[in-house]
Amino acid sequence: MSDHDPQHPAVRPRTAVLTRGFDPSLSLGSARPAVFRSSTYVFASPEAAEQAFAITTGKIKPAAGERADLIYSRFSHPNAEILEDHVVPLEAGARHAAVFNSGMAAIMTAFFACARPHTSIVYTTPLYGGTTGLIHQFLEPFGLRGIPVAAGDTAGIDAAIAAAADCSIVFIETPANPTLIMTDIERAAIAAVRHPNHPVVMVDNTFLGPTFQHPLELGADLALYSATKYLAGFSDMLGGVAIGASEELIRKIRSRRSMFGNILQPDECWMLDSRLPTVALRMNRQSKNAQRLAEALAGNKHLERVIYPTLFEDPEQRRIFEKQCAFPGGIFSIEFRGGKPAAFEFLRHLRLARSAVSLGGVESLTCHPKSTTHSGMSAAELEASGVTDGLVRISVGIEDWRDLLADFEQALEALG
Ligand SMILES: *Cc1c(COP(=O)(O)O)cnc(C)c1O
Repeated sequence: MSDHDPQHPAVRPRTAVLTRGFDPSLSLGSARPAVFRSSTYVFASPEAAEQAFAITTGKIKPAAGERADLIYSRFSHPNAEILEDHVVPLEAGARHAAVFNSGMAAIMTAFFACARPHTSIVYTTPLYGGTTGLIHQFLEPFGLRGIPVAAGDTAGIDAAIAAAADCSIVFIETPANPTLIMTDIERAAIAAVRHPNHPVVMVDNTFLGPTFQHPLELGADLALYSATKYLAGFSDMLGGVAIGASEELIRKIRSRRSMFGNILQPDECWMLDSRLPTVALRMNRQSKNAQRLAEALAGNKHLERVIYPTLFEDPEQRRIFEKQCAFPGGIFSIEFRGGKPAAFEFLRHLRLARSAVSLGGVESLTCHPKSTTHSGMSAAELEASGVTDGLVRISVGIEDWRDLLADFEQALEALG
């Protein structure tokens, strides 16, 4: 696992993702891992069973390089271990990972591992709808206090963290969906370190990670993913990942996962594992396509604005983008002057990009957030987040960008 391990010389992420995390000799020499569907694992001796339980339950610490024998697949299984070892090199600064059966499962389990009773959680708004629901409908009724702060408000986030009494978690989603507002991860991490409670800093890195943004290098404790999106990349499975540098933190999260039973299943682990070596290739193509499209559509007479990092005008947003993101990514949003009727008319005329929620797949998808993904927000929240009647979000795939541009242009022309 470590850079000092002679079995795993230090190589760059795109090499490591192909060379680490899988020992063919443990799969009869097969070049690709086998799928281990067993629900339970046979012990070599009663002492081995005792030792496996002692390590897995945290009663004793494993020796350097020692790994607990497998026990039961709700705790862990070979395909989860292979995937976890494999995903670590993709996230700079990471040393350990835990995989889940959805992005929400990863977020929920991280919350349960780190939230102490009667403490507060500082979080940026807007957040993914599922995460907002988790805070309002579940954590707050349980006695945790949610403290919202506007995404991108660097000074406001500093102040909210400093003022938060009994703070256990700082949760950041950047860029925010669907308006791509960026939050300075490093600044928030510095504020968290200064706080007497040392809240755990979690970043939902689904939109730009693991290729273009690395929260752990910026001081965050945990990067969280909906692997359903770019990591899996083909809109054909659900998954989630929690990645961090601290073995203790990931061990805590895994022990909650063992309780809840929300580990990613062997077949899904195998599928997701096969997608990892191409995630950087896919995301680079998606980002190049999105940049071509966003910049070509900027200034169109039907559009109030095109929202994309290379088109940011606000100096603070430009600063954050340039500081913490390697490339602008595969998502952009457009806002129609004609409001909802124009947005719907545009969506009706698209021939290539389909209308669906979710994002990050190799095919382009569009959605109207206000009437779908963000329909649970109050009028005030929608207003504050910039989710307007005329806003359409586009997740760009790996098609030829010229075909996509022609499709968007003919749908815009259809508006008259
Ligand atoms: C999709 C998504 C999630 C939730 O992930 P699931 O895999 O659907 O559970 C969380 N955060 C962001 C930013 C997402 O886009």
